[in-house]
Amino acid sequence: MKIIIIGGVAGGATAATRLRRLDEHAEIILLERSGYVSYANCGLPYYIGGIIENKQDLTLNTPESFSTRFGIDVRVHQEAIDIDREHKIVTIRETETDRVYREKYDKLILSPGARPVQPPLPGIDSHNLFTLRTVEDALAIRQFIETRKPKSAIMAGGGFIGLEVAENLRHAGLDVTIVDLADQVMTPFDADMAALIQAQLKKNGIHLKLKSSIAGFEETETGIRVLRKDEASLEADMALLAIGVRPDTKLAEKAGLQLGLKGAIVVDDTMKTSDPSIYAVGDAVVIRNAVTNQEALIALAGPANKEGHIAADNICGLEAHAQGSLGSSVVKIFDMTAASTGLSEKAAAAAGIDFDRVVLSPLSHAGYYPGAQSMFMKVVYERQSLRLLGAQIVGYEGVDKRIDVIATAIKAGLKADALADLDLAYAPPYSSAKDPVNMAGYIIRNVSGGLMKQFHWNEVQDLPAAAFKLDTRTEAEYAAGHIDGFKNIPLDELRERLEEIPAGQPVYVMCQSGLRSYIACRILMQNGYDAYNLSGGYSFYSAVM
Ligand code: FAD
Repeated sequence: MKIIIIGGVAGGATAATRLRRLDEHAEIILLERSGYVSYANCGLPYYIGGIIENKQDLTLNTPESFSTRFGIDVRVHQEAIDIDREHKIVTIRETETDRVYREKYDKLILSPGARPVQPPLPGIDSHNLFTLRTVEDALAIRQFIETRKPKSAIMAGGGFIGLEVAENLRHAGLDVTIVDLADQVMTPFDADMAALIQAQLKKNGIHLKLKSSIAGFEETETGIRVLRKDEASLEADMALLAIGVRPDTKLAEKAGLQLGLKGAIVVDDTMKTSDPSIYAVGDAVVIRNAVTNQEALIALAGPANKEGHIAADNICGLEAHAQGSLGSSVVKIFDMTAASTGLSEKAAAAAGIDFDRVVLSPLSHAGYYPGAQSMFMKVVYERQSLRLLGAQIVGYEGVDKRIDVIATAIKAGLKADALADLDLAYAPPYSSAKDPVNMAGYIIRNVSGGLMKQFHWNEVQDLPAAAFKLDTRTEAEYAAGHIDGFKNIPLDELRERLEEIPAGQPVYVMCQSGLRSYIACRILMQNGYDAYNLSGGYSFYSAVM
């Protein structure tokens, strides 16, 4: 069997090596347009900033190591330019010489990835305006920084690549401004969680221009001018465009393969395209959102690797099926970590799901052990069935492990309140006996079981005028900052001062994190009051307002 793979990075390289492990005798050719295979796209921003110092560290395998260990014929600087499906022939152009030649295949795997979106704006081809996809792109940016010594940069786009590059440019000493059309960075996150990320960016000296539409670019003597619609233009020594990616499917389109969502290649769950001899994987294909079951484009390395594996298995006669993606992702923002899995509130609403959510701010590990830091965690679930839909966590230590536990729980089909029952590892330097994930489960169980009613930060301004609003923190905490209209009765005095709270009106209760106010709600409810707890407490309210 002769198998040709187009695209030699995440999906393509995985497919190639899995194929070899399953079939020692297959002829495997891996074609890659750029000069590198099996490179770490995800490490490119850190190479730009100098955190990864050597470019050799960006490549996990070389054509030589592929050949020696796997007997795979890896050809870099080779672009597949045509697929003759009838005769099963790929036409290839050697990019350095322009030589064109043809190769026959029995099976073909497409893993061409996605291109940075480059809208047809005036000046889009300007010098000093970069995009980041390949090692060559990263080399060009780093060389620019080392030779031209820019002092300022504009980052068009506040998605995860934009933020990683912004951080790294800052690390390299540049003054960085992020410009984004949306009213928040990191659109997979809800606006309240994104506000925490925005605060962190600002704290680290990054300027944010949100709700700002880029109208074009102009080269200047020293760098570049970014023109904005109805706003003053911005100038910097360099700019980088990371406003999203689009499936790189020109070749598939030309070959007449069925395309779907945003031009991505349609595949079945074995990764087979509309042509039974051609498989496709990675950023270029339409996949299924594992929560909504709807079609989705998820440009992440995990799904690409899994799909490469699945395609290879099916080609070699093993049965393997793609199971959709939760889009689990994590991003470092200076010393902060932001992670998400599954659906946000806005994605759940867009999917027409009746959802509820809890927000909490647990400590990363036992408070009595030095160095504990709080994280903000939001868990979204279907109101009636308690089906877990997704989570977002922003904090420092331990964010990544909590998001992975919740992603695993979603995949396993656990109900949201079952998070309370997970038996998780604990010692004081790592967690608490009730881990943050357990705590989320307990809160959900209290809410769904009617032991606690809650209200949210964005409802605070619209609470009924006649309602009693209660702040259960200490006098000192209250004096340091409180929400207008909330009366201070510290939790420990509540039982003695119940007569100060009028009967017959709802009582809206808050504290710093939501725990003392929960205890207060239980006291109030058992004394006949209709009490509501502020989800996430004053700490979340003040952080996102
Ligand atoms: P790619 O890995 O992009 O590989 C496609 C390859 O195909 C390219 O090298 C291209 O040159 C080649 N190609 C295309 N057309 C042809 C052709 N006609 N002939 C020959 N070769 C061709 N994901 C995460 O999960 N976590 C991260 O932290 C993360 N960080 C990222 C940071 C950056 C800067 C970038 C760009 C991406 C990041 N990603 C991250 C996304 C992740 O890298 C991709 O989802 C993943 O690499 C997709 O794999 P793929 O095989 O579909 O495409």
